Amino acid sequence: MKINTTGLILSEKTIGENDKLVCVLTADKGVLRCFVRGAKSFKNHNNSAVQSLCYSRLSIFEGREKYIIDEAVPIRIFYELRRDLESLSLAQYLSELAMYMVPENSESSEPLSLLLNSLHMIAGSRRPPLMIKAVYEMRILTLTGFMPNLIYCDKCGCYEAEQMYYIQGENKLICQNCCTARDERYLSVSRPVLLAMRHSIFAEPKKIFSFRLSEQAVRSFADTAETILLYVTERQFNSLQFFKTIVNGLL
Ligand SMILES: [Zn+2]
Repeated sequence: MKINTTGLILSEKTIGENDKLVCVLTADKGVLRCFVRGAKSFKNHNNSAVQSLCYSRLSIFEGREKYIIDEAVPIRIFYELRRDLESLSLAQYLSELAMYMVPENSESSEPLSLLLNSLHMIAGSRRPPLMIKAVYEMRILTLTGFMPNLIYCDKCGCYEAEQMYYIQGENKLICQNCCTARDERYLSVSRPVLLAMRHSIFAEPKKIFSFRLSEQAVRSFADTAETILLYVTERQFNSLQFFKTIVNGLL
């Protein structure tokens, strides 16, 4: 069977002399692991179409046990992401998250356009990298069935307070007035951060990055979104560790 779709190459691995195994987020079939035979002498001579971070039109042959890309034409090659390690490592982290969270064989045009939109924002330096990362983390959780519950205080029903707490594990929000005791599961969320988190979850896709935050609020937003994401996924991401090393100036 032949699948004609578009997709973003999330990772690539050389196999033997001339073949590749790529992981690709497709619009129609979610995350697929596909072979590319003779990648170096690929039939359209456009090897870049099957390289990491390239968005391509793909023709994929679905065999009994594996997928094989037999034609690929690049639509957008995100060259700009390779200009500095911070941009590249963030793009790789967002790709790794998609690889882990988006299931195979599922219609995935929303996660794909979220990732493309985020890469576009990184490439154009349109928002602080930590903000792009946090928005993406909140939205990918939402799109894959793990939406944090941030609508109102679970006890009194108020929508906003200067300080609210998101309770991990219980997936609940409570306000400062209703919070009598707290432990390490309680994440403190200020008003601007709460609004940013809600926006990331509910905004229409094209407007997802259309808000601004102070530098301090961006840091807090990034810490909170990452903590929630890591709690849900229960794993570490190598690309995230690398990105943080770069951001913290340790490399
Ligand atoms: Zn309350």
